[in-house]
Amino acid sequence: MKYEAVIGLEIHSELKTQTKIFCGCATSFGADQNTHVCPVCLGLPGVLPVVNRKVVEFAIKAGLATNCTINQYSKFDRKNYYYPDLPKNFQTSQFDLPIAEHGSVEIEVDGVKKTVRLTRIHMEEDAGKLVHSGATIKDSDSSNVDYNRTGVPLIEIVSEPDMRSAAEARAYMEKIKSILEYIDVSNCRMEEGNLRADINVSLRPVGSEKLGTRTEMKNINSFKALEDAINYEIERQAEVLDDGGKIIQETRTWDADRGITLSMRSKEEAHDYRYMPEPDLPPIVTTSEEIEAYRKSLPELPDAKKHRLIDKLGLSEYDAGILTSTRAMADYFDKVVELGADPKSTANWMMGDLAKNLNAEGLTIEKSPIDPTRLAKMISLVEKGTISGKIAKTLFVEMWKDSSDPEKIVEAKGLVQITDSSAIEKIVLEVIEKNPKPVEEYRAGKKKAIGSLVGQVMKLTKGKANPQLVNKLLEEKLQ
Ligand SMILES: [Zn+2]
Repeated sequence: MKYEAVIGLEIHSELKTQTKIFCGCATSFGADQNTHVCPVCLGLPGVLPVVNRKVVEFAIKAGLATNCTINQYSKFDRKNYYYPDLPKNFQTSQFDLPIAEHGSVEIEVDGVKKTVRLTRIHMEEDAGKLVHSGATIKDSDSSNVDYNRTGVPLIEIVSEPDMRSAAEARAYMEKIKSILEYIDVSNCRMEEGNLRADINVSLRPVGSEKLGTRTEMKNINSFKALEDAINYEIERQAEVLDDGGKIIQETRTWDADRGITLSMRSKEEAHDYRYMPEPDLPPIVTTSEEIEAYRKSLPELPDAKKHRLIDKLGLSEYDAGILTSTRAMADYFDKVVELGADPKSTANWMMGDLAKNLNAEGLTIEKSPIDPTRLAKMISLVEKGTISGKIAKTLFVEMWKDSSDPEKIVEAKGLVQITDSSAIEKIVLEVIEKNPKPVEEYRAGKKKAIGSLVGQVMKLTKGKANPQLVNKLLEEKLQ
């Protein structure tokens, strides 16, 4: 490859406050159009905004969780531009004194760890939404504006251009999503647009330090679109450069249906927005004590949790990585282990049968028909020897359909393991009699031949015989 890709992300995340950033309107998603509005968020003359302290708290927590420095003196600024979804004709955002700066998060792609630096995190308000009568603005007779989203609080998390591939960009966005979920400041529902990314991509010759001209793609709201758009843009730019052309600094839009990016408009520079300090809001002053209190209130973060699972519970790095990738997964795992189940068995069940069933039915782990309590009980039935590991698989299938207690299902379905040696002995003798060939082979020294005999006994007992006992009895009888 002749070129190296240089990628930076601006991630917008809606904060899960009850009310908007500068007024008391509700932030909930899916309400009738223009029902969550008031004179403040509609930008009517003569009204004054008041900052929602919860927004400041959430932004500071996001900064602390991503190793940022919190600016104790921070302020809001007006970003001026005209668009129908922005009733004030400016967006209240932050310019030179954002709430947090100079952070970093660790990512891992194919076993290679890397640090991605965060330039800054700032607070701002979301804009409204245009609702077109047609599919796009171009083929619409009319367009309406829904101002419900106007003034919903956002944080914008700006990274340094530290990523070199679509896979790294994805790993970075996944890490940010997981951190925001862990600290519980955003719902991170990408399909509802409460987590979306603007992507900057440029190419430069391998070995060069100088940055190439970049293009920006806006409002990417799925991991697949993120990867596809970056890969397409890398290829497109490489072709332009190979043909001796120049990359134009512009905003491009990702057309997921056609799998291409299209030119939208030439990119604005910061000075085009005529940023100015917001005169209607006082600066935000945060004391060191407040910052420390927020730091103490943070839960265990994904990386710390991952290391605990590896160091204290003996899980592999791979397993620990998957189990801590979302807060819901990690909470589920912690709960099962807390109830006394072996961590390794818990991990195996969660990443095996549980994950498989959830995927097949398109369910998230919060909606799992088998909750942590029942999974813990099932694992303890195996540990106590009430059921065999093989029967546990059957029990799992039953539990998926039947919400009763695992012990009750075991009884009702007659799944209890046979540990009575006289019962098993009878079957062992029968199997030896009916399978002269493996018996002969075993006696001739081919010890592996015992496997097929064990299999026969298990089959005749419908998997309920205790396998250790079957082995022991077979060895005895074959002597
Ligand atoms: Zn309002």
